[in-house]
Formats: sequence, C-alpha cells, structure tokens
Amino acid sequence: MKAKVDQGLCVGSRDCVSACPSVFKMRDGKSSVYVEEVPAGSEDECRKASKECPASAISIEEKKDSKLSHCQSTVTAEHERSQDADEPCDDGIG
Ligand code: SF4
Repeated sequence: MKAKVDQGLCVGSRDCVSACPSVFKMRDGKSSVYVEEVPAGSEDECRKASKECPASAISIEEKKDSKLSHCQSTVTAEHERSQDADEPCDDGIG
C-alpha cells in the first residue's frame, strides 16, 4: 500500500499525523508521506487518515486493487471511445 498527499489541497490540520504517525509528518505546514510503503500494521490507520482528512488530500494506492482499477478504467475508456465512433453524427451533416 502506498499513500500520497496532494500538497495543493492539504490545509495543515495535522489530523493524519495524529491518526497515522508512522506514515505522515508535517513539513513546512503541510503533511507529507515519508515512507515508500505503508508499514505492515499501519494500513488501517492510514486508511482512517485518508477518510478523515478534512481536505481530501490523501490518496491511497492499494496494490492489487489499484492495478485492477486501472485496467477497468482503461477498458471502459476504450469501450466508450468505440461506442462514440459508432453513433450517428447529429450535427446535421452526417
Ligand atoms: S489531514 Fe489532510 S489536510 Fe490535514 S495535514 Fe493531513 S493531509 Fe493535510
């Protein structure tokens, strides 16, 4: 699992540091993630920090789910593109 803080959204409330100090630290008034991988045993705390962030600035990447999610969104985008190509044009020309 990986965590990421969007520095542009973070309002520096420190809630994530309180919820999951093994992953988040304050730096120049903003939170940042200081570990490459969320340590085993801290995943639930990290998810809680993400859910409770008042600025929705924390994103969580779950290893298996994120790959599946990426594949699903890619397939959906390809499907929608092919659907658009098959639909008749309603601009009056064709
Ligand atoms: S809880 Fe959210 S807004 Fe508050 S310091 Fe952490 S990332 Fe920033």
